[in-house]
Amino acid sequence: MTNLPVDAPAPDEIEVSVFGKGFGEAIAVHVGGHRWIAIDSLSIGQISVTHHYLSGLGFDPKDHLDVVIATHWHDDHIRGLAQLFESAAAAEMIVPLAMLKTEFIKFAAAFSGQSSTKFSSGVEEFGKILQIAAARHKPNTAYPLRMAYNGYVGYRKTSGSLPHGQQVSLEALSPSNFDVAAFLHRIGQVNPEAKLLQRAPLYGPNDVSSAYWLQIGNDAVLFGADVENSSGVNSGWNAILNAPVQPIGKASLLKIPHHGGVSGHNDKMWSQFLTEGSIGTLTPWTKGGNRLPSGADIARLITATAESYSTGPSANGKTATQPFSVAKALSKDKVSLQRVANKIGQVRHRGKVSDGKIAWTTTLFGEACNLAAMAK
Ligand SMILES: [Zn+2]
Repeated sequence: MTNLPVDAPAPDEIEVSVFGKGFGEAIAVHVGGHRWIAIDSLSIGQISVTHHYLSGLGFDPKDHLDVVIATHWHDDHIRGLAQLFESAAAAEMIVPLAMLKTEFIKFAAAFSGQSSTKFSSGVEEFGKILQIAAARHKPNTAYPLRMAYNGYVGYRKTSGSLPHGQQVSLEALSPSNFDVAAFLHRIGQVNPEAKLLQRAPLYGPNDVSSAYWLQIGNDAVLFGADVENSSGVNSGWNAILNAPVQPIGKASLLKIPHHGGVSGHNDKMWSQFLTEGSIGTLTPWTKGGNRLPSGADIARLITATAESYSTGPSANGKTATQPFSVAKALSKDKVSLQRVANKIGQVRHRGKVSDGKIAWTTTLFGEACNLAAMAK
């Protein structure tokens, strides 16, 4: 029992549901026709929240989930991701093409059949995903693991193939060409003779996280992942905004990058990619004494959007407007603050396409709240 909502979207309705848990981010996207895409994962027990959610709606992931995406390998984005990929037997997995050193060691070890030493849970999750892909692959068929970079189209449905009639495409905006090249240079460093390559630039894990552009008719959704502004023009948002080939049109809905933190804010991202009156949703991030978004972040995001939401309370602990029944039961039992802090929040955006645009309706569940309410 997860007490997630169980009313399914209509076949001609688009849905973007963002789930959070204080530390954790997962996104389920209904592109129409009961076809789903999953981006990142958080888990309830050992099971991905996206698996719970789709099952509760009556959609077995093995029949309805087309693509599972890892934006990057940080712990707050990967819990349950391998389980979700395993359960979605017909799905393809897409991961960023640029990797950190530990991720690459795992990658190389998986392809050589070697076991490797223990890494962070994100890298371990990557290892499990590589094993699932290898086990699932049949000779002379497309490999079920794909690698994303700026301009890579990971999913496409032609116009007329889904009940709403619109063409759908999902394109990765990052990692940048430069960071992919930097990654290849760094692989070259394993060769001790490749002295020249030792000057290869270093990127941070969020620089190589994959943002995605989902185009639906004349409308779009921008999934900002944890992409930040790096100091150079060739990484992070600067690289995305300066890439030679850009998405067409503007997005009406944004998964706010990097938990609303100012390091993920880029004025040009808003002006170039988002409509006036766009809607933004974030998942908060809490680790040790560090929290995102800050009060200043919330104020900035409220100004930048027409409507903005969070999957859970952040700095001041403001909570849900429309709790799950489990949340009601828990509060009656006066559960500990620790347990309350771990409850799931879901921001659900649904809309039908009219004249090529999506008319979004947003519903909040569990810990989710309006960002403006958080600021009060
Ligand atoms: Zn994150």
